[in-house]
Amino acid sequence: MKPNFIKLRTEPLEVTLLKLLRSRFVLSEETNNYYLSKVKGYEGECCLDSQLATLTSNSLILGDLLFEQSNTTFQIDTLLLSQKTIYLFEVKNFEGDYYIKNGDWFRKSTGKAITNPVHQLKRCETLLRSLLHSRNIRMEIEPYLVFTNPLFTLYQAPLDLPAFFPGQLDSMLKKLNRSPSELNGSHQQLAQFLLSKHVIDNPYSRLPEYRYDDLKKGVTCRKCMSLNVAVTRYTTKCSACGHAEQNTSSILQTAKDLKLLFPDRLLTPNAIDHWSNHMYNRRVIQNVLRANYQLINKGKNSYYL
Ligand SMILES: [Zn+2]
Repeated sequence: MKPNFIKLRTEPLEVTLLKLLRSRFVLSEETNNYYLSKVKGYEGECCLDSQLATLTSNSLILGDLLFEQSNTTFQIDTLLLSQKTIYLFEVKNFEGDYYIKNGDWFRKSTGKAITNPVHQLKRCETLLRSLLHSRNIRMEIEPYLVFTNPLFTLYQAPLDLPAFFPGQLDSMLKKLNRSPSELNGSHQQLAQFLLSKHVIDNPYSRLPEYRYDDLKKGVTCRKCMSLNVAVTRYTTKCSACGHAEQNTSSILQTAKDLKLLFPDRLLTPNAIDHWSNHMYNRRVIQNVLRANYQLINKGKNSYYL
């Protein structure tokens, strides 16, 4: 008897890319704020995952789903399938004071309106329902906002708000544990159907424009993303946070970063040498590439894939 995470959450590619760019390039304030809000959102979702992992009832959990339905795209933070109900969770890691006035949501410190999370939740619910109806699935959907940040306060919230606040996460888990949890093949099929409808996000078009020549070259610390690292014979050590890693692992990561930021660039020892700002011995770079990638042998124009 336990929850089964059918689709595990991983760091969104957009967050990874912005994190890499950020250490090599000055992001605009707007993009930087966007990045920070994405990181925060991801942390909130992970927080809910760790809560759900403690459930004792049978359930299937799918994290971070992206669907296209009725010519529109919608994202679902977490779906929990129980025997009779599909729980739809929209996670908000808001911090600080907010209030609701005439149905609209505002940040108290600035008085500025924010995107109404209830509307967002309803939209997801409607689109999910339509996706399920297309398959003749008529299970009950219960949508909830889940606020994960203990530093969040919402004033003037209506009593019937479909939400769990940080202090209510315990009672949320109790509610889920009380939910009937006899799962069978049809629940597995439903999970597989949802997985088959999941589309892969392509965040590249949303990134700020960047060119190889504009980015700082070097090796980033995996822990704090500083480019301030020192390389000795076997290890790469961060001068900012002290994190140390074997050179082979840093080289591999540096190659992966290059490929993520520039999918069209060919991986060669020369390319990694330049990208890492000549921090490593060429032969070591060559060995790392050989051990982790496939050599496409084209004589002088050989590269690794
Ligand atoms: Zn560091």
